[in-house]
Amino acid sequence: AAVGAPTGDAVNVQVILRCRPPSREEVAERRQQVVKCDEAMRAVSLTQSVPGGGKQSMTRTYHFDKVFGPDTSQERLYNTAVSSIVQEVLEGFNCTIFAYGQTGTGKTHTMTGDIADDLSDGAGVIPRAIHQIFNHVEGIASEYSVKCSYLELYNEEITDLLMVGADVPKVRIMEDRSGVVLAGIEESIVKSSKEIFALLEQGSSKRRTAETLLNKQSSRSHSVFIVTVSVREVTPEGDEYIRVGKLYLVDLAGSENITRSGAVEQRAKEAGNINKSLLTLGRVITALVEGQGHVPYRDSKLTRLLRDSLGGKTKTCIIATIAPTVQCQEETTSTLDYAHRAK
Ligand code: ADP
Ligand code: MG
Repeated sequence: AAVGAPTGDAVNVQVILRCRPPSREEVAERRQQVVKCDEAMRAVSLTQSVPGGGKQSMTRTYHFDKVFGPDTSQERLYNTAVSSIVQEVLEGFNCTIFAYGQTGTGKTHTMTGDIADDLSDGAGVIPRAIHQIFNHVEGIASEYSVKCSYLELYNEEITDLLMVGADVPKVRIMEDRSGVVLAGIEESIVKSSKEIFALLEQGSSKRRTAETLLNKQSSRSHSVFIVTVSVREVTPEGDEYIRVGKLYLVDLAGSENITRSGAVEQRAKEAGNINKSLLTLGRVITALVEGQGHVPYRDSKLTRLLRDSLGGKTKTCIIATIAPTVQCQEETTSTLDYAHRAK
């Protein structure tokens, strides 16, 4: 996709595919690898055995805006796929970056990774975006402010990851003329990247603790890290205005909680484990990409929350994550199909 300010009403959705390397156990157990990435061709192929077909196999190839194989560093992914989006935010646009995929494929590694103020090799998208933002605003002469909030969405309820204590108020989504307003959240003004790193660490550890307590095999919660950058500008005529850009960084719930076929969807619903926000997000993106008149933002909390930054003059980037081994092939197919539909 072209770099530069999004124009007109064209929806700007970039879809990126990242395959993680096999884990130590997968290597030790000699798990068969079924995914091949070709970064230059922006293609990923999945080879599957044909059910009941003996040794027969079938290869399917998908193309995306960018494809990153197991050897791609965090830095390379950021520089080639994310930094131009953060630049848009600094120019006053709203942008969203999602990580989508089965649990264990690298969503949190990609979005958060290692958190440390001096970026280590393992630092993910959020710490690198924070650096890019502060490097920019600290280098300009204008007045600015940077605010952040950090939310978790679980079971269609929003909690504030930056508030501590037992009686944290429920967060509500309201809409006014200026857009989406979140009532009851802590919006911290941050003066330095160090401060924002402390908040990121605090919220991330709160999310990890909640996940461990629930002893979950898969993550059913979404986390949303929001950075708002406001810069005071003066026009050549001497008029002042504030340019505001918002960046939403979303680590989605594990995609194994949603399924493709309607029948299974019904069963999942009965079992109470359907993830409404994840399903609706897919429908919203499809509606935007296909230019459908009705976009079902209101059908889930996540899409209501992100409404200002999906569609219209915004940029959206979906980073779909997959695992290389045969054991994951069904979920890999599902992720590739979902991501491909968003193109
Ligand atoms: P998810 O958030 O999708 O459930 P994680 O980010 O927790 O998955 O990743 C699962 C494990 O795989 C973690 O130990 C993580 O460090 C490792 N991992 C994921 N992606 C990569 C990658 N691209 N390179 C190296 N290790 C990775
Ligand atoms: Mg995770």
